[in-house]
Amino acid sequence: MAGSEDAPTRHQQQNEKEEPRHEMTEELNEYSRYLLEKMRQLESKNDTLRSLNYQMETEIQMSERIKLKQEQEIKRLKRELEKLKTPPLLVGTVSDIIDEERAVVKISNGNSFLVRVSSGLDGLDVGSRVAMNQQNLSIVEVLPSTYSTLIRHSEVIEDTNVDFSQIGGLKEQIRELRETVELPLTRPELFEKVGIEPPQGVLLYGPPGTGKTLLAKAVAHSTRATFVRIVGSELVQKYIGEGARLVRELFELARENAPSIVFIDELDAVGAKRYESTTGDREVQRTLMQLLAELDGFEPRGDVKVIAATNRPDILDPALLRPGRFDRIIEVPMPDEGARAEILRIHTRNMNISGDVNFERLAKLTEGANGADLRMIAIEAGMFAIRQEREYVTHRDFEMAIEKVKSGSSPSSYPEGMFA
Ligand code: ATP
Repeated sequence: MAGSEDAPTRHQQQNEKEEPRHEMTEELNEYSRYLLEKMRQLESKNDTLRSLNYQMETEIQMSERIKLKQEQEIKRLKRELEKLKTPPLLVGTVSDIIDEERAVVKISNGNSFLVRVSSGLDGLDVGSRVAMNQQNLSIVEVLPSTYSTLIRHSEVIEDTNVDFSQIGGLKEQIRELRETVELPLTRPELFEKVGIEPPQGVLLYGPPGTGKTLLAKAVAHSTRATFVRIVGSELVQKYIGEGARLVRELFELARENAPSIVFIDELDAVGAKRYESTTGDREVQRTLMQLLAELDGFEPRGDVKVIAATNRPDILDPALLRPGRFDRIIEVPMPDEGARAEILRIHTRNMNISGDVNFERLAKLTEGANGADLRMIAIEAGMFAIRQEREYVTHRDFEMAIEKVKSGSSPSSYPEGMFA
């Protein structure tokens, strides 16, 4: 039967129906795979964008911080600029206070002004140093006491705690110093009765490290005087333009704390002979002139004494050595053999010394050593003992210390030592 031949079998019919369905499923699968892949791609893109966003946000934060900093810097520079534009303040000293709002101020050229006082100023008094606005001449600030700067730069000691027993040798120098400095301070009536004026200032001269400072400190201690020390080279090198002012204030300070001993170390730095002047010399000269004025202004039997020290008496200006100034000149020489033994004994007083130490023999070995070198030798000898874990110092330790200080291998040895 042809008809039945042509007619599709049920199986065929079912196949024909399923094929397009199968194709569709395939297509759908294909499409969902495609979608999945697309989603993965989008997710990874999203991740990248998210990290990019995070990066950008951090960068924004950083730029904001930089911006803030720069704004602050601009503000600071603007303030600085403002300060630079404002005229400098005038400095003067109050010579009279009229009432709460007005005061008379003297400025450095000698002129006096009646000026207004800004409200709320603390510590304004006659003698105060003040800063004034140049435009309307009113006091805007009370400056700190000038002594505060001076005290920072000089050594002011109430009690030096150095007594004459700590000085080796120099017996004659001690006697002379006590006579010329101590006696007028402790028993001024003796001089008055006899009718003589004690020396105004005493000049100690000699090589470095021989005990000049020590002598001055010991006199201050024995007279219970305040010890005020200033170094000449510092006056002219560190405080350029201020040397004369510092000298004046130093003496004011000494007078306020009297009885006192003013010790001027390295006097030659301010007191060298005057030659044709250069600008730098003029500054030194002004300091010297102020020093001479202070010496001349002293009451000889007063309770401020001046001791100066120098290694170069030969270059001092003769004006300094005139009567009434540094008119007592005392030489402080290098210690001789006897003095060297004595100085070694002094500096080993608190050391645990073995019985074999012979200071006389050590003194012979230290020809050319000054007091500072001998002190160094005592310290070094102690160091040798410590290095060998001994509790006492032997003669041999001292000999090795002498060799060490002599050769200058000790880092702490005094560079100016005379030890040849
Ligand atoms: P410079 O000229 O360098 O200022 P100086 O002569 O003032 O020196 P000092 O400062 O007195 O010397 O001495 C330095 C140190 O040396 C002192 O602190 C002290 O320990 C020691 N010294 C110097 N001379 C003696 C001495 N005669 N007796 C005891 N110790 C001394």
